[in-house]
Amino acid sequence: MEDCIFCKIVAGTIPSVKIYENDKVFAFADINPILEGHSLIIPKIHAENLWEIPDDYLKEIHPASKTIARAMLKTLNCSGIACLQLNGRSVNQVVMHYHFHLIPRKEADPELSMTKWDLIPGDMNKIKQIAEAIAGAI
Ligand code: AMP
Ligand code: ZN
Repeated sequence: MEDCIFCKIVAGTIPSVKIYENDKVFAFADINPILEGHSLIIPKIHAENLWEIPDDYLKEIHPASKTIARAMLKTLNCSGIACLQLNGRSVNQVVMHYHFHLIPRKEADPELSMTKWDLIPGDMNKIKQIAEAIAGAI
């Protein structure tokens, strides 16, 4: 897609700090790292989000994340890696080309707010009703 910044990164028309690629995916450093080593994996075709990315590209994303995660564990002395993927403006997706964040965290790093939430028990009837609605639409 012509005016997509991540398509331009795949095409090499704007620079990126490459970490990994294969025929379906490209991985590079995030230029606004939440923590050191913050990286992004993207499909090599334009797809906006999880419900648009073709399965043959999607199925390459997680194996690539495993390859990169193992390299992060070897090199960065991190004790955990957050995998994060935002879909849609209401959850603050900013770049509208599917991307999978890998955010390595060392023990001494600041807490990642998106990985920590209060466990407040929900209404089980409501939980079941919503789950049934989703399941029924599959
Ligand atoms: P989001 O859409 O909120 O999941 O996040 C978009 C991510 O893309 C942000 O973390 C940005 O820092 C990152 N980003 C935007 N432009 C570039 C770029 N040219 N190179 C590397 N990372 C980028
Ligand atoms: Zn794109």
